[in-house]
Amino acid sequence: MNLAGKRALITGGGSGIGADLARGFAAAGAEVVIAGRRLDVLGVVARKTGARAIQADVTDEASVMRLFAEAGPCEIVIANAGAADSAPFGKTSLAQWHAMLGVNLTGTFLTFREGLKQMPGWGRIIAIASIAGLRGYPYVAPYVAAKHGVVGLTKALALEVAKREITVNAICPGYVATEMTERSVANIRAKTGMDEAEALAALTKTSPQNRLIEPSEITSLAVWLCSEDARGMNGQALSLAGGEG
Ligand code: NAD
Repeated sequence: MNLAGKRALITGGGSGIGADLARGFAAAGAEVVIAGRRLDVLGVVARKTGARAIQADVTDEASVMRLFAEAGPCEIVIANAGAADSAPFGKTSLAQWHAMLGVNLTGTFLTFREGLKQMPGWGRIIAIASIAGLRGYPYVAPYVAAKHGVVGLTKALALEVAKREITVNAICPGYVATEMTERSVANIRAKTGMDEAEALAALTKTSPQNRLIEPSEITSLAVWLCSEDARGMNGQALSLAGGEG
């Protein structure tokens, strides 16, 4: 894959999937810009990958507008920033609901809109949604609702730009080996008294392959979506979850 001459902007680029996307897109020859709230964390990834780091909060419209003004026109835009919070539905506060929709759905909307505004003729827009954007899970209703929203947003925008050389797709991973899943394991342990292996097994058993997805599997798919061979792939929510969903 040769993405030389293409600028790729990745939100939430300081950790987990975003950090691996930065590695993979830099390796494919793209000029990489990573964005997130914590400059110190972004700096570590920037030094490793040669990416440019820009501070931005994807829930804040002015911040996302500044981000793209500073980054310059990007051919590849990846809305990866996200967060997951869990609670029984009846105990889910309005603040938790707003927080989940804010970072996962509104954050993707703002990233897509500002990225598209200055996209040159050719472009690739990708959301890192979740398998939770395609099916339900208990105790994470706001996250599931937000990720279903991301899939809907992706499908709608894909049709709007279909006559141009731009595609819009969502990648929907199952549980991935990142800090987010480590936090879920810690949360299950705290709430149930399970040990680490049991708590991890409670998550991996949702996958028919009984394993976590590696960030590099997501990166490879995202890089492929940016190829010419993938130009007909538009408006799709691609499940990457070992057969789940
Ligand atoms: P992660 O927690 O390592 O990464 C999320 C990143 O988003 C962090 O760097 C965080 O600082 C950043 N972020 C959060 N709120 C932000 C905001 N308001 N503005 C800017 N940046 C913000 O977790 P990850 O697993 O790498 O998650 C990346 C994406 O993948 C998320 O959208 C997540 O929902 C999705 N996902 C994760 C899994 C999983 O099991 N880990 C599964 C499916 C989908």
